[in-house]
Amino acid sequence: MKVPLLDPTIQHRNIGADIEAAAIKVLRSGRYILGPAVSELEIALSAYCGVNHAIGVSSGTDALLMALMALGIGPGDEVVTTTYSFFATAGAISRVGAIPRFADIVPGTFNLDPDALEAAITPKTAAVIVVHLFGQCADMDRIDQIARTRGIPVIEDAAQAIGAEWHGRRAGSMGTVGCFSFFPSKNLGAAGDGGLVTTNDEALAERLRRLRNHGSQPRYFHALVGGNFRLDEIQAAILLAKLDHLDTWTSERQMNAATYERLLRPAEEAGMLRLPRAASGSRHVWNQYTLTIPDRRQEVIDRLDAAGIGWAIYYPLCLHLQECFVDLGGRHGDCPQAELTSATALSIPIFPGLSRSQLRYVADAVIGEQSRIDIDAG
Ligand SMILES: *Cc1c(COP(=O)(O)O)cnc(C)c1O
Repeated sequence: MKVPLLDPTIQHRNIGADIEAAAIKVLRSGRYILGPAVSELEIALSAYCGVNHAIGVSSGTDALLMALMALGIGPGDEVVTTTYSFFATAGAISRVGAIPRFADIVPGTFNLDPDALEAAITPKTAAVIVVHLFGQCADMDRIDQIARTRGIPVIEDAAQAIGAEWHGRRAGSMGTVGCFSFFPSKNLGAAGDGGLVTTNDEALAERLRRLRNHGSQPRYFHALVGGNFRLDEIQAAILLAKLDHLDTWTSERQMNAATYERLLRPAEEAGMLRLPRAASGSRHVWNQYTLTIPDRRQEVIDRLDAAGIGWAIYYPLCLHLQECFVDLGGRHGDCPQAELTSATALSIPIFPGLSRSQLRYVADAVIGEQSRIDIDAG
């Protein structure tokens, strides 16, 4: 048996005919840029995310960049964010000329620690980027309250968290702007790059729409400088074909997580590893299933390799320790929880379409013996 970390062809195997028909329709239409599929996707996703405005864009990275541009963040500004995320979160801050200030995470949740956020705020703080990592929302009640009382806008990096909820509110609807990615490994993945920005603020939505197309309004007249941040029509059509299945795929991810929990709980009780869990009041959409293994992570990796099982370490080096940010003065020990997590985290396959025997095969390889738990009984 072989189990990849992710198999993006599974979705295509199940609904391939619909996806191909949607793509062919666009190819034949001749409308390749900002056509009806982009508009239809924006309407569908604004409803899905519970926001007034959704704007299809070129990638999750560009969504973050545009969010900062639309909020007028630039040189002289600081933006506080988590040190434990994909690089794009921090890269966007530098690219607008602002300074990233990195804060630690809450152990176990992988998400920004509200106390660390509060401590990192200075008079120069112009925005906060909160990341909903691995498919679970950060503590948005506290983060929102900390930012709101100081009048600081919150950008949600919801690239890994489409459909996730925090106390009934959806990812991308709680902050000032939400940013999503349709990179193929995300829960709603395109056949290439794509992204989305969401907001409830009408004026901000208008600005984001202009920024997407070189700031142009009307055509060839530019009151602001934007870029080419457009979502391809063919990707929008493919995403629309997949969107109807997203909730089914999410519940499969949730069932896979529940199966792992049953199979791996004895290993957790024995102190071998720590399992990821959904916080109470949180709808976790499980973009990743990430264990923390305090000692001997490498031994588990060796067993997974020997068994032909895919794995990943997200993220091996915290953002405050990246070479490109050395001038910011980040040091080992600044964010101890995130640093410990990067040394102990290990993500295993969770994608929808995994069979129960594959889940058991992965769990057995993680613990190094055959699990005696009966997952078919309950
Ligand atoms: C994937 C991802 C991004 C970037 O999205 P792209 O579409 O790949 O540009 C940003 N932030 C996080 C947390 C991500 O996981």
